[in-house]
Amino acid sequence: MIKAVRGTRDLLPPETGVWNFVEATVREVFRAYNFHEIRTPIFESTELFARGVGEETDIVSKEMYTWEDRGRAESDKGQSLTLRPENTAGVVRAYVEHKLGDRGLQKLYYIGPQFRRERPQKGRYRQFYQIGAEVIGPTAAGSESPARDAEVLTMLADLLDRLGVREWRLELNSVGCKDCRPRFNEALRRALTEPDENGVTLASQMCGDCQRRAVTNPLRVLDCKVPEDQPMIATLPRLSDYLDDGCRTHFAGVTAVLDALGIAYTRNERLVRGLDYYTRTAFEFTHGALGAQNAILGGGRYDGLSEAIGGPPAPGIGFAIGEDRLVMTLAESAAAAGYAAVAPVAYVAPLGAGMNAPAAKLVRELRAAGLVVDLGDETFKIKKSFEGAERVSAKYIVICGEREFAADAFNVKELATGEQVTVPRTELAGKLRR
Ligand code: AMP
Repeated sequence: MIKAVRGTRDLLPPETGVWNFVEATVREVFRAYNFHEIRTPIFESTELFARGVGEETDIVSKEMYTWEDRGRAESDKGQSLTLRPENTAGVVRAYVEHKLGDRGLQKLYYIGPQFRRERPQKGRYRQFYQIGAEVIGPTAAGSESPARDAEVLTMLADLLDRLGVREWRLELNSVGCKDCRPRFNEALRRALTEPDENGVTLASQMCGDCQRRAVTNPLRVLDCKVPEDQPMIATLPRLSDYLDDGCRTHFAGVTAVLDALGIAYTRNERLVRGLDYYTRTAFEFTHGALGAQNAILGGGRYDGLSEAIGGPPAPGIGFAIGEDRLVMTLAESAAAAGYAAVAPVAYVAPLGAGMNAPAAKLVRELRAAGLVVDLGDETFKIKKSFEGAERVSAKYIVICGEREFAADAFNVKELATGEQVTVPRTELAGKLRR
C-alpha cells in the first residue's frame, strides 16, 4: 500500500470547501487593495534562494528540496534546481525579469504550495500552502513609504475580519536598516562574546544555536525559543535604542496609521528577520488556538532584496500567510462551515432502459440553471436510486422514466419529508431552487 509521503497530506472534501472559501475571500479583499495575482514556477534555480533567502538561514542551509537536473541538453545538465521553499524570492525575480518596475508600483499576490524539509508536526508540513502579497516598486512610486506598510497590515486585518478570525494578535517591530543595524549587531556581539570579570561569556552559557549565532548573526539570538536562554536574552541591548532617525520616523509613520484606524498591535522588540536586506518593519500575526506553531503569518520590509538577486533598487514589503494554519483557525467559523457543506439539491433518477440520454439532457438543463445536481443510472431499480440520493445527501429525488419524459413532467420527492409533487419540466428548476 503506497501512502502519502511524510510531511505531505491530502486535502479532502469537505475541508477543501473551506480552502476555497479562504481563497475566494483573499481574492476579493486583495483586489479591493488593487493587488493582482502572480503565479511563479514551483521550482527555480537554487541560486535564487541562496541569494534571495540567504545561505545562513535554516531554510537554505537545511530544509530545501534540491536536485541536479539530468536533462539531455547541454544547457540543462548539472543545473541545480530547488522546489520553492517560499515565494517572495520568485516574485521579486519575476519583478526584475519582466521589468515590472517600469510599469510603476507593483502590488502582487500569490497562492500556492511551498516545500521545506522540516520535522512534521501539527501545523507544520513539508508541503504547505502560503498566501502572500508583495508591494515592490521604484522609490519614486512611493514603495518605501510607511503608508505601504500600514496598507498591507490593514489589508491583513480586513482579511482576518472577513474570514471571521477573531483572536489574532499583531506583533510589530522595526529591525532598522543597513546604516543603523550594523551598530546594533556589533553591540549584541560584544554583549554576547566579551568575557565578564570571571572570564565567562554570555554566549557560552546559551544553547548551541545561540553560540553559533553570536558569531555569525547575533540578531538571530533574539529569535531563540529555548526557555533557559530567555533571562540572558532579556539583558541584551535593545534594538529600539539603536534605530536611526529615518527608521524611527518610518516606524512612527506606520503606527500613526494603525492607531488612526484602530488596528491593535504590540511592539515586540525581539521580533527580527535575520537577513541583511530585511529592513525596518517586521511583523507577525499569531492566533491563540494554534498551540506551539502559533504564527499564522509573517512579513516585513525587504528594501535590499531586489539588489541581492541582481536587480535594480526596488524597495518592497510583503507577507506570507500559512494557509494550512489559517484553515485550522477557521474550524469553528460559521462562514466557512456554510462553504464546506454543499450537498446537491437534487438527485435525478432515470428509470428503465434508454433513459440515460434524456436524463442527461434534463440534468444539463438544471445545472445550466445554476443548480447542483447529481445523476443515477438507468439500470438502477427504484430502491437503489433512493439509496443513491441518500448517499450524496440530496434534498430531492427526481424520478424520470419513459412516462415522465412523455408527459414532460416529473415526480419530485423531498427525501426528508417524503412529500411528493409532479412538476412540469419548465417549472422544475424553480421548484428545486425553493
Ligand atoms: P515564513 O515564510 O517562514 O516567514 O512563514 C510564513 C508563514 O508560513 C508562517 O507564519 C506559517 O504560518 C507558515 N509556515 C511556514 N512554514 C510552514 C510549514 N512547514 N508548515 C505549515 N506552515 C508553515
